[in-house]
Amino acid sequence: MTWRALAACRGTENPRQFFDAPFTAALAICARCPVRPVCGDVGANEPYGVWGGTLPEERGFVNGTRDRRRAARRLAKAGAA
Ligand code: SF4
Repeated sequence: MTWRALAACRGTENPRQFFDAPFTAALAICARCPVRPVCGDVGANEPYGVWGGTLPEERGFVNGTRDRRRAARRLAKAGAA
């Protein structure tokens, strides 16, 4: 069994909610997902969509492009830089 088989979003009626704003419903699903950390790791470099309960801008992407300064600030805030 893969982590995707345990995903709370598996079989969701509206997968687009993970790619189109507002992301409120998608984030609510992620909040109760048992594989959220794994999903977050897998999607860390994905420029679009909700991964691991994070939005693209939280992963350092703006309009599909990596905003390196924002990503650096995020890492510094997390104590990883
Ligand atoms: S954390 Fe990932 S796998 Fe879990 S519901 Fe959210 S998008 Fe789906």
